[in-house]
Amino acid sequence: MADPVVTDPATVTVKKKRSPREKFEIPDGWIARGFEFEVAWPDDPELASRVRSQFGGRRFAYNWALAQVKSDMDARKLDPSHASVQWNLYALRKRFNAEKPTIAPWWEANSKEVYSTGIADLCVALKNWSDSKAGKRKGKKVGFPKFRSTRKDQARVRFTTGVMRVEPDRRTITLPVVGTLRSKENTRRLERLVRTGKARILSATLKERWGRLFVSFSCIVEAHRYPAPTKGGRAGVDLGMRVLATIADSDGVVIEVPNPAPLRATLTERRRVGRQLPRRIPGSRGHDAAKAKLASLDRRCVHLRKQASHQLTTMLADTYSEVVIEDLDLAAMKKSMGRRAFRRSVSDAALGQIRPQLTYKMAWRGTTLTVANRWFASSKIHHGCGCRLIEPRKLAKQLVCTVTGELVDRDVNAAHNLRDWPDIASYSSVGAVAPKPSSPTGSGGGLGSDIGPSDAGGGSVRPLQSRKAAPSEARTRKGTPRRGAA
Ligand SMILES: [Zn+2]
Repeated sequence: MADPVVTDPATVTVKKKRSPREKFEIPDGWIARGFEFEVAWPDDPELASRVRSQFGGRRFAYNWALAQVKSDMDARKLDPSHASVQWNLYALRKRFNAEKPTIAPWWEANSKEVYSTGIADLCVALKNWSDSKAGKRKGKKVGFPKFRSTRKDQARVRFTTGVMRVEPDRRTITLPVVGTLRSKENTRRLERLVRTGKARILSATLKERWGRLFVSFSCIVEAHRYPAPTKGGRAGVDLGMRVLATIADSDGVVIEVPNPAPLRATLTERRRVGRQLPRRIPGSRGHDAAKAKLASLDRRCVHLRKQASHQLTTMLADTYSEVVIEDLDLAAMKKSMGRRAFRRSVSDAALGQIRPQLTYKMAWRGTTLTVANRWFASSKIHHGCGCRLIEPRKLAKQLVCTVTGELVDRDVNAAHNLRDWPDIASYSSVGAVAPKPSSPTGSGGGLGSDIGPSDAGGGSVRPLQSRKAAPSEARTRKGTPRRGAA
C-alpha cells in the first residue's frame, strides 16, 4: 500500500457541522474501524438508573416518531392535502424538540442524543420498509416498523457529540451525561491509538445485551502498513459445517480449521438448560436462574463464534495474497436442508461473518479476495479428474468418483476446486454452461447426466493426477477434450 498521505492528525479536517444528508468522508490514508468493550454496570444505583433512563428515552422518541408518522398516514387517507412531517431525522427531530416540553417534560434528564438516536433508528426502519416495498432492497421483505415495548426493545443509545473518551488509566470510559464507566477489559488497543493521534473517536454506542453493558466506539484510524503475506500464493477456502474451513493453497498444502471445541460443549449445555426453562414456574427463583443461565450460554456462543471467525480470517489475510471463497447463499442453504440439526449447524458456523471480515481485512492489506460464482458446484466436480462425484447420501463427507470409484473428501476437493477457480470452470458443467439453475447446489440435473459419460471416457484414458499437479497443467489437459465434446 502507498504511504499514508496524512500523517499529522492536526491536519486532518473533520467537519463538525454538516447537514444530515451529507456523508462523513474518511480522509486519505485513514480507515473506519470499530472498537467494543464490555463495561460493568455501575455500582451506584443512581448512575445505573441514569443508564436505563437513556435507553428509555431513546425508545420513547422512537415510539413518538412512529406514532407521528402513523397519524400522518391516517390523516392523509382522509384528507390527501394533509401536510405530513417529512420522514427524515431532521424534520422529525425538529418537531420533537418543539413538542418535548409537553410530551416529555422530563426530557432534560437524558442526553439530547438519545432522542436523536431513537428518531434516526425509526428513519432507517422506514427507509428499509419503503425500499423493500419498491423492490430496491435485497433479501427478506421488511415490514412496517412496530411500536417497541420495554421487553422487545434493543436497549442502546448512540452519542455523536460531547465527551467520549478512553481515559489514560485504560480502564475508565467516559460518555456524555452517563459519566464514567469501568471497562472489564483493558482499553489499550484504542487508548494507545488515540493518545498518539492515530485514531479519532467519531461516535460511541452504549448498549445492553444479555443483561450486560457494552460500549462500542466508531473511529477513524490511520491506515496501518501491514507486512507482506507470510506465504503468498493462492488459497481456496471451503467453508463448512463439519469443520469451520478447509484451506488448500497453491503449494498443495491442505489445512483443516475445526470449529472451536468449547462451542460444541456450550451448545449441548444450552439445549439442556433450554429444556429446563419451560418446566419451571415463571417468576420463581428457579425460572430466573434458568433464564440467566440461557443468556450467559448464548453470550458465550456468540463470542466463541466471533473469535473463531476472526482468528480464521486474520490468519488467511496474513498468510495468502489471494483467497478464493464460495458465494454462499445461506438462506437457500438453510431452506434446502430438511433437518433442523443441519439448519442449526449452518447458523452455528457463523459462516455469514467470514466473507465481510475477509473483505475488509484483505482490503487493508491490499491483497485479493475472489468470490467464486454462486453456481459453481465446487463440491460436485472431481478436482483433477473432472467427473461429477456421486453422493452416497445427502451431505455425505466422502463422495465417490465415477471413473475410478475412489472415495473423495468433499471439503478438501471443494477447497482444491476453489483454489483453481475459475480455470476449473472451463470444463465443469455447472457455472460455465448453465446460466441459471433453479437450485443453488445445481446437483444432478439434465446437464450433469449427459456430460457424465464423455467425461468418464476421457478420464479413463488418463492416469490419475496427483493433488499437487500444477493448476495450469490440469487446465490444458482437461480443458481441451471437454470443449471438443461439447
Ligand atoms: Zn473422478
